[in-house]
Amino acid sequence: MLVRYEPFIDGKSTPVNTEFFRPVNPATGEAYAEVSSGTAAEIDLAVQSSQRAFLTWKRTKPSERGRTLMRVANAIRENADKLAALETQDNGQPLNQSFGDVEVAARYFEFFAGAADKLHGDTLPLGTDYHSYTTREPFGVIGHILPWNAPLQQAARGLGPSLASGNVAVIKPASETPLSTLALAQIAFEAGLPAGVFNVVPGSGRVAGMALVQHPLVRKIAFTGSVETGAEIMQRASARVVPLTLELGGKSPNIVFEDADLDAAAKSAWTGFTIKGGQVCSAGTRLLVQDSVYDEVVARLVVRANSASIGPGSGSPDLGPLATRGQFEKVLEYIEIGKREGATLAAGGGRPEAADLQTGNFVLPTIFTEVKNEMRIAQEEIFGPVLSVIRFSHEDEAVRIANDSEYGLAAGVWTRDLGRAHRVAAQIDAGQVFVNEYFAGGVETPFGGFKSSGFGREKGFEALKNYTQTKTVTIRL
Ligand code: NAP
Repeated sequence: MLVRYEPFIDGKSTPVNTEFFRPVNPATGEAYAEVSSGTAAEIDLAVQSSQRAFLTWKRTKPSERGRTLMRVANAIRENADKLAALETQDNGQPLNQSFGDVEVAARYFEFFAGAADKLHGDTLPLGTDYHSYTTREPFGVIGHILPWNAPLQQAARGLGPSLASGNVAVIKPASETPLSTLALAQIAFEAGLPAGVFNVVPGSGRVAGMALVQHPLVRKIAFTGSVETGAEIMQRASARVVPLTLELGGKSPNIVFEDADLDAAAKSAWTGFTIKGGQVCSAGTRLLVQDSVYDEVVARLVVRANSASIGPGSGSPDLGPLATRGQFEKVLEYIEIGKREGATLAAGGGRPEAADLQTGNFVLPTIFTEVKNEMRIAQEEIFGPVLSVIRFSHEDEAVRIANDSEYGLAAGVWTRDLGRAHRVAAQIDAGQVFVNEYFAGGVETPFGGFKSSGFGREKGFEALKNYTQTKTVTIRL
């Protein structure tokens, strides 16, 4: 008998329709739950409930909103075992990484709890006859649409600034991974978040997602996902003149110069393309290595790849299964594309052979060397544990190759030369640059894309600006 999950609306599980979908455990291929497949009717219920909650939540003193969000942060930590287990069951990632995501989710609520009463406007100098000032006001109901790679973290990343600044939220999680977001809504409600401030409607993007984007009471969309879906949502939102944040894909360069700490660079490059099985938008999947240290860096990575542990996420291996069957097939196809394009396969290259790993979505960590940046495996987002290693000989060439991409989400730079670090960081077209530690930063550091990687910023104080609109009041004295 599968456990059944319903939308979470107005502080409770709310059965509305009789259509269900069955998410499967990516490690075994077996269904483990029945989840209500939301339609426009559930979206409408959720949005109406949130709109009612907005009228009170926006008037709640910011310090009180902050205290409530802090209670949610504490409750997330208290429920870490449950949330981490759900996340690993849903998306297959190693359990220790799910625990990491739970802590990050708690940090988002904690950070924005503290920020709730520190968001203020300006006074504007118009001379003695006028008093002019700005305030930052919430939009109202925000529609958040999430992908499947890190649902809990991404839900918290959007909810923190959104709720702290007085908005209310309806989330449509990805079909494959709805459970941690549903659990978060229940936990937040029990921690004191008023009913309706945060509702969740699972369902397909085509039905529930589209209904959320088109609902007349949704005043802003925060979308995280692929470029194609983001572009489609943008078109739909434009019909209602609704602003968006688009957090989209990436093909991020990680540049290792010859003067870098090679040991640290290789370790970090490994994490950069294998954490969550490489299913990370900002993964460092194009490794640019200077000629003179190329072989040494590759050798370290190949040793690491060949000794990696692979298995069900519950055992916290280096790599769990990929989150969905479709993603698994797509990654295997890209590995074949890399072989056909003439790149050298230095490690991995397909599925592991172990008999007990044949039913799940397991893929070996795969390293291609002598990759040319024009190859598809260097230009297209694979979203799996596949690294394309590209050779360069001088700084300008590294910058040119790094920027030769439709994407602009993140970049890594490895050097002991401070001048070079700043010079290269200044020239990279990306929303964030990590120097001497891939993924350096935290909930405090603004995050978002250049070019096709999207626009708007999550995380940090920038996110609060993103989730509010400026009102200017000018008084003739
Ligand atoms: P996706 O296919 O674009 O789906 C993302 C979400 O949009 C899902 O909830 C999906 O619903 C929904 N959706 C699909 N079509 C829709 C439509 N027409 N209208 C409204 N909603 C719709 O992306 P994905 O494959 O789940 O996620 C992987 C992508 O996300 C990668 O490109 C990755 O780089 C990107 N990503 C970006 C960030 C960032 O912060 N920049 C973070 C993580 C991931 P279903 O569940 O039914 O498909």
